[in-house]
Amino acid sequence: MPVHNADIARIFEEIAELLELEDANPFRVRAYRNAARVVGEQRFELAERLAKEGALPKLPGIGEDLSAKIQEIAATGTCALRERLAKRAPAGITELLHLPGLGPKRVRALNRELDVHSLSQLVRAAKDGRLRALAGFGAKTEKRLLDAALAQLGTTRRFKLAVAGEYARSLVAHLEKTRGLQNVVVAGSYRRMKETVGDLDILVTVSSPTAAQAVMRRFAGYGEVKKVLAQGETRASAVLASGLQVDLRVVPRESAGAALHYFTGSKAHNIALRRMAQAKGLKINEYGVFRGERRIAGDTEESVYGVFGLPWIPPELREDQGEIEAAGQGALPKLVRLEDLKGDLHAHTKATDGRNTLEEMAEAAQARGLAYLAITEHSRRVTVAHGLDPARLARQVAAIDALNARLKTFTLLKGIEVDILEDGSLDLPDAALAPLDLVIGAVHSSFKLSRARQTERILAAMDSPFLSILAHPSGRLIEAREPYDVDMLSIVRKAKARGIALELNAHPERLDLSDVHCRMAKDEGVPVCVDSDAHSVGDFDNLRYGIGQARRGWLEKDDVLNTRSLAALRKFLARGRF
Ligand SMILES: [Zn+2]
Ligand SMILES: [Zn+2]
Repeated sequence: MPVHNADIARIFEEIAELLELEDANPFRVRAYRNAARVVGEQRFELAERLAKEGALPKLPGIGEDLSAKIQEIAATGTCALRERLAKRAPAGITELLHLPGLGPKRVRALNRELDVHSLSQLVRAAKDGRLRALAGFGAKTEKRLLDAALAQLGTTRRFKLAVAGEYARSLVAHLEKTRGLQNVVVAGSYRRMKETVGDLDILVTVSSPTAAQAVMRRFAGYGEVKKVLAQGETRASAVLASGLQVDLRVVPRESAGAALHYFTGSKAHNIALRRMAQAKGLKINEYGVFRGERRIAGDTEESVYGVFGLPWIPPELREDQGEIEAAGQGALPKLVRLEDLKGDLHAHTKATDGRNTLEEMAEAAQARGLAYLAITEHSRRVTVAHGLDPARLARQVAAIDALNARLKTFTLLKGIEVDILEDGSLDLPDAALAPLDLVIGAVHSSFKLSRARQTERILAAMDSPFLSILAHPSGRLIEAREPYDVDMLSIVRKAKARGIALELNAHPERLDLSDVHCRMAKDEGVPVCVDSDAHSVGDFDNLRYGIGQARRGWLEKDDVLNTRSLAALRKFLARGRF
């Protein structure tokens, strides 16, 4: 059973929690937390690298001791320290530790005095008023903990990027109408284009104090606001009807760049920059960069980075994943942009489960500045979508040929999203696939196969001389279905060997490839195509989120297949066939 980075990361995270519970040295706790993050974010399997090269590469924050633990876990699947700590710890209380306001000491007290071992037990004890009787708790704390536990249990949810984007855009449009408003920007994980967003952090600059008041009023009066949680002169928090929390801040112009940087995050990126500031004897916060009391930068983000001799770093890269080093070496990637896309290689029509006709899809794609669109219906196995059999596919091919003869500056490509069956064969015979411009292979069933079998299945499908793109390679649905267990590195390498591209499916539920796997594909020289998987003309909107994720994966224009001209694309598509 191979040990994956995720396994190592989980063990380190558990160690951090258990140490915390024991009131261990906070630096030690932090070291394990950091190690969990660093390991979890590596693009290659550490265990595999160890087996091959006998040593680990240098990883940030991982010294000899942690490195030895990684080797131990890679070899044994566990770690003696974790086992030791787990034996000492009361069962099932780590979730309590995550509650704001509950440190290890209080958790221990709850455990001992009230027999509270879980969030739901905490809720019960708080509702019964038993918490306030404990030394150091009180009625106020009891109420706060109850709210926090309830939030943790039920109502905390993250919003898919595209959904948060809709709320953000209409709220921004509403605020933009305020008199005296100069600039409004949504910071936070939304600006970094993370696949899910917990809340919206909105920053505004205004021309006068009166304008600040006007923005606050306009915000509180927004029709979607369900509840205003707090409102001051320059800060307000509210929950929208959707449950999405929004924090609004009016920031002084001289601090606007520092605030934008601070509230964009990520935390890891900001911590790294703070360390650099400390090394220079400077202080950095949301108000600016300071030498002593004097502000030396902060009106723009460029000025903040400039203090460190760095160029501006695009928000999508700010994860402390090497972007600061790259910036220092003048080696930041020139990230792909939405306007670089020349076409879209995955779309459906009324013939299966789409809502529009061939003509309507072609027109809509063209209206967005695209030069080509591949029509890729489901194959017959997907009965719920009324998938195509060879005869219906042939009819669609003829219809596309007829339409292309009429279209002047736009090309529809003839494709199929063919199901990869459980044994790795494709759902349609070669004779049906041969006349097509491109074949996308997709897994839509048997998600629960073992890692070995799932990987074999997909690798086998990639042996088809007709397959040119692998759709939504991990199969995950955001917060609804876990990715299937598959050896992505093997798939990426097979794609390289076979001249196959990997899809970054921009459907809001999918955003699949992940950012990490985009980077893996790039490292291995495999092109990624950012596709809408449009089922209606409006779905081309989603391409922007696909591009956001591609940028998080450090992809440049040349790394993205559908930035190529139609002629260059056709060359790529012809390559894999033999
Ligand atoms: Zn699909
Ligand atoms: Zn599809």
